[in-house]
Amino acid sequence: MEKTDRICRISIDSYACNGCESCVELLPEFFRISDASGKAETVNDTTPCSFALDQAVATCPVGCIDIKNA
Ligand code: SF4
Repeated sequence: MEKTDRICRISIDSYACNGCESCVELLPEFFRISDASGKAETVNDTTPCSFALDQAVATCPVGCIDIKNA
């Protein structure tokens, strides 16, 4: 996976998340489904920014993944 020097902070609107697992299938190292809520959560809050992260944002059907520069 390509990486940049920028660090990104990932946040998920768990109210909007429908638990479809698209983000988990795309980037299981960054996203997982909470056993408690059935919604997506991040493995780490920050990570090197990458095109793959942008793809995860674009893939989410409800647009509930937000990525900002950390
Ligand atoms: Fe939730 Fe979006 Fe991930 Fe689907 S792709 S599990 S809606 S955060």
